[in-house]
Amino acid sequence: MMEYRGIPASPGVAVAPAFVIIDEGEMPVPAYSLEAADLPSEWARFLVAVEKAKAEVTSLRDRARKEAGEAQAAIFEAHLLMMDDPDLIERIEESLGATLRNVERVIAEIERELVEKLSRASDPALRDRASDIQDVSRRILGHLMLRERFTLADLESDIVLVARDLLPSDMISMNRQRVKAIAMEAGGKTSHVAILARAFEIPAVLGIGSSLVSVRSGTVLAVDGDSGTVIADPDAAALARSAAAQEATHVRDLELSTLRDLPAITSDGARVLVKANIEMPEEAQAALGHGAEGVGLFRSEFLFLGPHHVPGEEEQYLAYSKVIEAMGGRPVTIRTLDIGGDKILPELGAQDEKNPLLGWRAIRFCLSNVELFKIQLRAILRAAVRGDVRIMFPMISTIDELERALAILEEARHECRAKGQEVPDRIPTGIMVEIPSAAVASDILARKADFFSIGTNDLIQYTMAVDRGNGRVAYLHEPYHPAVIRLVKTTIENGRKARIPVAMCGEMAADPLASILLLGLGLDEFSMSSASVPLVKRAIRSADMQEAREVAEAVLSLSSSAEVAAYLSSRVRS
Ligand code: PEP
Ligand code: MG
Repeated sequence: MMEYRGIPASPGVAVAPAFVIIDEGEMPVPAYSLEAADLPSEWARFLVAVEKAKAEVTSLRDRARKEAGEAQAAIFEAHLLMMDDPDLIERIEESLGATLRNVERVIAEIERELVEKLSRASDPALRDRASDIQDVSRRILGHLMLRERFTLADLESDIVLVARDLLPSDMISMNRQRVKAIAMEAGGKTSHVAILARAFEIPAVLGIGSSLVSVRSGTVLAVDGDSGTVIADPDAAALARSAAAQEATHVRDLELSTLRDLPAITSDGARVLVKANIEMPEEAQAALGHGAEGVGLFRSEFLFLGPHHVPGEEEQYLAYSKVIEAMGGRPVTIRTLDIGGDKILPELGAQDEKNPLLGWRAIRFCLSNVELFKIQLRAILRAAVRGDVRIMFPMISTIDELERALAILEEARHECRAKGQEVPDRIPTGIMVEIPSAAVASDILARKADFFSIGTNDLIQYTMAVDRGNGRVAYLHEPYHPAVIRLVKTTIENGRKARIPVAMCGEMAADPLASILLLGLGLDEFSMSSASVPLVKRAIRSADMQEAREVAEAVLSLSSSAEVAAYLSSRVRS
C-alpha cells in the first residue's frame, strides 16, 4: 500500500485500476500473417522499436532518480533489464518464425500468457512483475505501431486515469463513463482539468507531483477527491474507508437534494440567485437536477475544443438553443469564446507564445478574428429569441475592448436582420471581471456593461501572479487573500453604484464557507459547477444579512488568507 497526497480538486471517492497515460497507452493490436521472406524485416522492425523503448525508459529512469528517488528508478531499471533479457528475446524470435504472425501479435500473445501466469502467483512480488511486463510490452507495441497517444475515447473498462497532465480537449473527448477518477502530477484546484472534473462529477486529485511516476497501469487505486489522497494497492481497511466515504457522500447528496426546488434566500428574506456553470450543452440537465436557477456561465469555448472541428454558425446555434430550451425560461449567460492560455485550438492558428496566459486570449483573440467572433455572436443572437439570454465577454481589461466588442455585436445583429432572421432588439451584455485592471476600474466599465460576473479563477491568477494550473505554487491561488477580497468588494460596490447586477462565476462562488462573506459584500448571483449548487444554497439559506455584513466588515480588517479562513470557519460553525 502506498499513499500519495495532492490537491483535492473534485469531490467524491472511487476505486478502480489505474490507467497510466504518462508514457504508454492501451491499444488494439493489428494481426496479420507473414511470408517466410518477411521475417528478417519484421525482426529488424522489432529491434528498432526495442531501441526506442529503451531510450525512453532510460530517460524515465533518470527522471525518477532525480525527482522521486532510487526506489522509483529501480522500477525502470527492471524494465531495461527485461528488454535485454535473452530468454525473452529468443522466445519472441522463435514464436515469430514458428507462427509467421506479425511481431505485434506475437508480443501481445506472449504478454498475455506471462501476465496470466504471474497474476495467479501467490507471491505479491511476482504479481507485481505482471504489470511490469505489460508496461514494457505496451511501450514496444507503441513504437511498432507508431502510435504516440492513445485515444481516451476508446476506454472500455472502468479506470482511474493517471497522467502527468491532461488537456481540456482530453477531458472533452474521453469516454467519461469509464473514467471513475483522475490522479494527476500537475494541476491546481481551478485548472481547467479540475473545473471539467467537477462538471462531470469525476473525483480528482491533482498536483500530486512526480512521485506519481511509480504508479503502473493495473494497480488498484482508491482516490479520495475530498481529502486529496490516492492509495495504491489499498488494503481491506482502506477499501472499507472508501466504501464508507462513498456511502456518506450518497447520504449527504440525498439530504441536499431536498433543497433542489427551494430558492436561495437568507433567513431574513434577502433573495440572491444560485446558477450553474456549464461547459457542454448536455450539462444543462445536471444543472437543473442540482437545483440551479439558471446558467450563470456557459463556457462556449468547449464546443470548439472537442475532437472534431471548429463549429460553424448552425452548429453553434443548435448548441445554444439546446441549452436555452433545456433551461425552460431560466436565464442563460453565454460567454463568448475564451480561447488561448491553456485552451489551445491549433485550427485557429498556432499560438506558441512565451506567456500564453498574458497573451492572445479570449476577447483579445476575438477582436482580431472578427469574422469568427461574428459567427458566434450571430448564433447566440438567433438562439436568444428562445429564452432569457445574456452575452458575456471574457478577459476585458479596458473600456475600449468592451466598446469594440459591443460594436461588433451590433454588426452581427444587423447581419442577421438583413437575412430576415429574428433576433432580440436588446440583449443584456456584460463582462467577466477577471483581470485586476477591470476590477480596479470597474466604475468605468460599469458605464457600458449591463452586468458584471467576477471570475475569481483568473482574477486570483493575475492578482497573485500565480499560474492557476501549477500545483507547485497552488498555495498562492488563494481566494481569501486580502488583495482578492478587496478587488471583489470594489467590483461589487461599483456595480451597485451603477445599478447593475454583480455575479461571481469563479470557483470562489462554490465555496460554502465564503457564501456569508460574499452575501455581506453584496453579491447578487452565485454561479458554480452544478454539484456545488445545493451546498451553497444551504449556506445562503442559513445566513442572515445583518450577520453577513458584520462578517464582511470583520474580514476586511484581517491581514492574511489563514486569518480569513479561520475567522469564516468560526462564524459558520457558531
Ligand atoms: C474565472 O476565471 O474565474 C472563470 C470563471 O473563467 P474560466 O475559469 O473559464 O477562466
Ligand atoms: Mg477566466
